[in-house]
Amino acid sequence: MDLGGLTVEEYLKENGIKPSYQRIRIFEYLIKNQNHPNVDTIYRALYKDIPTLSRTTVYNTMKLFREKNITQMINIEDTETRYDADVSPHGHFKCTQCGNIFDVRMDVSDMEVEGLDSFRVEETHLYFKGTCDDCIEEKKS
Ligand SMILES: [Zn+2]
Ligand SMILES: [Zn+2]
Repeated sequence: MDLGGLTVEEYLKENGIKPSYQRIRIFEYLIKNQNHPNVDTIYRALYKDIPTLSRTTVYNTMKLFREKNITQMINIEDTETRYDADVSPHGHFKCTQCGNIFDVRMDVSDMEVEGLDSFRVEETHLYFKGTCDDCIEEKKS
């Protein structure tokens, strides 16, 4: 992901976030692992390296990132929130077999939408669900 030539520390600062060590590490994880992790995935990936890290810290950090609009939340399932450091408009495909979430590129500016003219849109989410190519292959063999 492109931070416009900024380091993670500079990027956080530019977005009004005090770049603590934990916040930098968490954001680094998000841009290096664009697998749309949930809080638990992030925590489990980092706690060995950062013994002072707690799930609550990860949760609060994700909340802050979300408030500052440097991450987006993906709520394809009611029971699970996952995060994406890529805030550019794009869709998501969730594989119901392996649970992976893939980015789907699309030109939203070109989409024809009716009935929104007098509304103010704050977020747009576009989700697809189904079986990913890996899981389709597995079933065949
Ligand atoms: Zn799959
Ligand atoms: Zn995404």
